[in-house]
Amino acid sequence: MANSASRLTALYGGTFDPIHYGHLKPVEALAKQVALQQVTIMPNNVPPHRQQPLANSQQRKAMVELAIAEKPLFHLDDRELQRETPSYTVETLEQLRAEIGATQPLAFIIGQDSLLNLQRWHRWETLLTLCHLLVCQRPGYSLTMNTPAEQQWLDAHLTSSVEQLHARPAGKIYLAQTPMYDISATNIRQRLEQHLPCDDLLPPAVAEFIRQHHLYC
Ligand code: ATP
Repeated sequence: MANSASRLTALYGGTFDPIHYGHLKPVEALAKQVALQQVTIMPNNVPPHRQQPLANSQQRKAMVELAIAEKPLFHLDDRELQRETPSYTVETLEQLRAEIGATQPLAFIIGQDSLLNLQRWHRWETLLTLCHLLVCQRPGYSLTMNTPAEQQWLDAHLTSSVEQLHARPAGKIYLAQTPMYDISATNIRQRLEQHLPCDDLLPPAVAEFIRQHHLYC
């Protein structure tokens, strides 16, 4: 087991437009598996890989705050929302690494879809020099990478050792056995536009905020 004194800092980036159970529940299971004491949710401002979010930064931040209000595992860091420039994960990780020092273990949490897409991220080769990657399962996405070269890269960095994640500062990829939730923010936005219920897809306080602010309709 991981040393109880060890502090693996874990970040969870995304658009969170809106935050939903597919974000929260797999990460709660992951936290138990790899002994994370805290997970920092970091919503991005101008995601470089995708269309602009429909809810503005302050609304997405407010929804994250509501979703985690009674969940002490989670904590919000809004530094990317305060930037005008694109949110490149690698740059945020560099900033954090400078803050926490070279030896502190640092992890970035992603879903399986993001792992498959990772090699399109800005300076993706640098990511593992800065952090570990903790990958949650997501239904509908292949468990093998898109090309043999990508698979080779993955295999070279894989670990199933929780101890390694806590003992080393960066460099490992851990594929967690997390429960699957077939939920996406895209699907929630589409359902809300069609006035379909979303009650079992996201926390009630977030659903209420969406109603009050007439988001996504
Ligand atoms: P959208 O549908 O708008 O693209 P999304 O639901 O995929 O959004 P993001 O905010 O883009 O959510 O994702 C943030 C992170 O959460 C990503 O690493 C993504 O892989 C992960 N994630 C999102 N939904 C799930 C899910 N249902 N299961 C596991 N991981 C998820």
